[in-house]
Amino acid sequence: MKMIKRPFHHALAVSKKACRGCTRCMKNCPTEAIRIIRGTAQVDPERCIDCGQCLDACPYRAITIEQDDFSKIFDYSHRVAIFPAVFIGQFPDEVEESWIFQSLLDIGFTHLYESEFGVDVLKSISNRFSTYASQRPVISSYCPAVVRLIQIRYPNLVDHINLLRPPMEITALYVRQLFEEAGISKQDVGVFFVTPCAAKIADIKTPHKGKEHLFNGVINLDYLYNLVYSNISRQKKRLQRMKPDIMPVSTEACLWSLTQGESRTVPGRSLAIDEIHNVIEFLEMYENNGVGNLDFLELRACSEGCAGGVLNPGNTFLTSERLLHRSEHMESIPEEKWSIIQKQSRKFDRKIKIDYYEPHSTEALDEDISEALKKMNEVNKLLPKLPGIDCGLCGAPSCEALAKDIVQNKAAISHCGVLQLNKKHSQLKEIWGDSLLPKP
Ligand code: SF4
Ligand code: SF4
Repeated sequence: MKMIKRPFHHALAVSKKACRGCTRCMKNCPTEAIRIIRGTAQVDPERCIDCGQCLDACPYRAITIEQDDFSKIFDYSHRVAIFPAVFIGQFPDEVEESWIFQSLLDIGFTHLYESEFGVDVLKSISNRFSTYASQRPVISSYCPAVVRLIQIRYPNLVDHINLLRPPMEITALYVRQLFEEAGISKQDVGVFFVTPCAAKIADIKTPHKGKEHLFNGVINLDYLYNLVYSNISRQKKRLQRMKPDIMPVSTEACLWSLTQGESRTVPGRSLAIDEIHNVIEFLEMYENNGVGNLDFLELRACSEGCAGGVLNPGNTFLTSERLLHRSEHMESIPEEKWSIIQKQSRKFDRKIKIDYYEPHSTEALDEDISEALKKMNEVNKLLPKLPGIDCGLCGAPSCEALAKDIVQNKAAISHCGVLQLNKKHSQLKEIWGDSLLPKP
């Protein structure tokens, strides 16, 4: 299989000023993308999947997520917010949905859609949820961190990834088509995605083959939450009288981003796994032993699906519960709105698929196979010389990672803190003898 390395965009950055080299991010990174070099965390862009685990782990707020300037929305006369259902789940129970929607309009948006509206668009096209992949089980393409993980670490599984655009993109296609039909110029329409995680920023900003430019910017969910919440606090009385009219979503769409939200809609046998370390454990097992007779795998990097996104200000489990509660009280989409969705969706049904996902392996020690084998032998010779305690003093997450860095000329054996201490101990022993030293 030919490996193509198209650069990924990354949404996370380390502030050199704030970083104290404490190694917590390095120890939590599921792809071993972080090294501590001269006391500062450095991220390998080839290995990072923008899962956000490092941001959660850093006690010094040294890891930041990029964010588009909110005022950018005012560059357009038509300003569309496409926000995930988990945004609604951040607010306390006493805040009504209509207050949230009206506040989004108050702060500057002119049109509102939930990103999961794309799920209803999908359903309206074929009356069921289709999957497009050449291999079974089909792996959901919904979570961009998982897609990247497969591209870099399990390239043999890329043919299992569902070649279906995520709902937020389908919603954007729908919206753009509506404006086009109304004769509104593309330059006047700004479509902004409200993101609960870094991986979606990275995905939107990485140009993929065959994907058109659908979003004009990305607004971080925590930032928008603060704007909306303060509007609600100031305008509560007025908001109680307002009834903004936005396109409704179905129960299935409302729950889609939570764990099992997608897998329960797919026919056949399916499995839903959340949290990136669980996903890796499962994919390791799958690569080594297979997984039996499964049709569909829903894999999400965050715990509880998008309810656990790092940009959500609220508690993961409360968010999840609020969406479940919301879904129980949702009315079904009225017939006249359903036929509008159906009529529009059929006009762009050929755009809902993407061409392919490229393998992007970072596991090989060299692009040349015989060189890679030689280097693997060197790693095996080095390993018994290292202490094998994965202490992280060297700035690599494990002794094996240090050995691989050494054979790739990215580190030296002198970086091993334990070997350094042992060496110092022997030197001292030569000078002072056994009596003055504790036993090693
Ligand atoms: S967790 Fe990582 S980024 Fe944060 S201070 Fe420690 S080494 Fe630096
Ligand atoms: S975002 Fe995830 S993969 Fe990237 S450096 Fe942080 S923990 Fe590692």
